[in-house]
Amino acid sequence: MLSHSLDVDKLLSIEAINCSIERLQRAMSFSVIGQADGCDKGDSALHTAIEYKDEGNAHFQRASYLAAALSWSRGLRIEPNNDLLLLNRSLGYLKIEWYEAALRDSEAVLARCSTAEHVAKAGSRAAWAEYGLGQYKNALQRFELYDGILPLTQWISRCKQRIREQSTGDYKWATLFKEWQVKYRKDSIPIPRLDIADYIGPVEVRAMDSRGGGRGVVATRDIKSGELLVMSKPFTSAYPSELSPRGHLLYKAGSLHVVRTCKDMLTPKVVEKIIGRPECAALVMNLYPGAGFPSPANTYSLSPITSPLEVPLHVDGNLDIAHINAIIDFNCFAANSIREAEFTKTIDAHEPAALHLLPSLFNHACFTNTVRYSLGDAMVMRANQDICCGTELTTAYAGGGNHLTRAQSLTRLLGHELCNCKLCTLDRADGDEACRKREKILLEYERTKEGLNRSKVPLSSVGFENNYKCHIDAIENTYAPERGYLRPATFLLHLGLAQTYMERAAENYDISLYDKARISIFACLAAVGVVRKQTLIGNGTYIPIASDNLPCTGAHEDAVICMAQVAMTYHCQGKRLEAQEWVRAANWLHAACRGGDVTFFDARFNGFLREINPGLLELFRT
Ligand SMILES: [Zn+2]
Repeated sequence: MLSHSLDVDKLLSIEAINCSIERLQRAMSFSVIGQADGCDKGDSALHTAIEYKDEGNAHFQRASYLAAALSWSRGLRIEPNNDLLLLNRSLGYLKIEWYEAALRDSEAVLARCSTAEHVAKAGSRAAWAEYGLGQYKNALQRFELYDGILPLTQWISRCKQRIREQSTGDYKWATLFKEWQVKYRKDSIPIPRLDIADYIGPVEVRAMDSRGGGRGVVATRDIKSGELLVMSKPFTSAYPSELSPRGHLLYKAGSLHVVRTCKDMLTPKVVEKIIGRPECAALVMNLYPGAGFPSPANTYSLSPITSPLEVPLHVDGNLDIAHINAIIDFNCFAANSIREAEFTKTIDAHEPAALHLLPSLFNHACFTNTVRYSLGDAMVMRANQDICCGTELTTAYAGGGNHLTRAQSLTRLLGHELCNCKLCTLDRADGDEACRKREKILLEYERTKEGLNRSKVPLSSVGFENNYKCHIDAIENTYAPERGYLRPATFLLHLGLAQTYMERAAENYDISLYDKARISIFACLAAVGVVRKQTLIGNGTYIPIASDNLPCTGAHEDAVICMAQVAMTYHCQGKRLEAQEWVRAANWLHAACRGGDVTFFDARFNGFLREINPGLLELFRT
């Protein structure tokens, strides 16, 4: 329960609405004041609607949109039917994305016989609000009504593109990727958002009796691997550039905390959004909050309940911050956008964080049947394998290691530890002892590798080869013989061994070594579940891998690179047909796990391919 009051005028003097605590406190203080005695002590000493209009306009000019909306609201209290005040406030709300409130103000103007100019303005603002609410068909109708009176051509084409995306999942993947690459910088303020529609594919939320209650997401028809399942714009997200080096102050669990991570920053952002868009409160408050709070209902509706903000003078401050914190703890996703493929992956100290709605309803499996990634500020989920209608769809909240280490992460992240996915079942069959031994071997391998790196031993050396080989053998011994190929712990070691052979081949001009490299890459792909098999992928072309299963445990990008490297080994040996086959496989896998066509692949892997072998780039383009 929020229970603090702050001087509204003092707060209004704090400049810069930068989504931080000031704005939150300011908004909340309205509520406390408004509710306490029904009058607004923050009133300035103005008397006429026109004076409040001018005051609001001045705030608006300084981009203090919430303050502007407040002034106009005061003016509207004096003259409730003042078109100009309603139109202005509607624009102010649009600027801070309080769309329902904006829609209502413009509709109030439309409901009266106003001047043609006011009607066109109100109509286009109502359309903008509906666009913001994702009601693109309504928005399009309205924009078309006033096209010609106002310059709305761009809005109309944006609406048509959104309708296409929303109904078919047909996105311009490469364009969106490039747009984000251009617009997003580490120090970006404000954060650029992708202008896209949400998409909900062949999935629905259902009560999951099989899981002992709770909810889950299931397939509503048979799904092919690589199909788009969900495109989700975040309910809210936070980026490192929005964090002040000194931290932000935040009321958390009843006391003041300093916000230092993007995840912590989601709380004030969620509160802020709910204050402006109370109709969205249930979308967040019905997410899973852990065991410390009452369980949410077994149903979940993705449509907001329409009860928009009255006026910013009367905000419901009854938000349970501890509850919201718990929801964020259990439902927050890391939100690093995919980038161009690169050799050395840099990891940000602070990773962006996002709260998503539908993706949060997917239950966990380490061996998951979906693959997710961030494209800009949005999340994309695709099918990771062929899926039968009615099957529960899962996503991985914890990965790596074995069933024991994952159980620890799951307890921390989800409050429970039991996972019966294929990977955990296989690990359990290997036995706890074998699993612990495997982790030890991996640590020892890392130590040896670091030692070799420190001593500047070249990657092509026998030292590296032996380190990979002996540790691969040791790890293989921890797997039960009947386990099959799925052995993700050996993935990176096989890949490293292949790298060693490729380096040596290049250094010694010995193309026969590419045979050895290839064997290692094949082992590497098998370890994450990629099956080699001639598979028809339509229009008469074949790929050398099975198409019903994509790699497990998030190894998709590495697997694409592996396939490009297989192509390279063939290419270097003059085996053009085989090289082309593997180029096709890499392209196919990228399209299946990331979407788009060859232009999207090109945008991401062009530089990488150029670096490993310029000739390969040509192969990818033919
Ligand atoms: Zn599992």
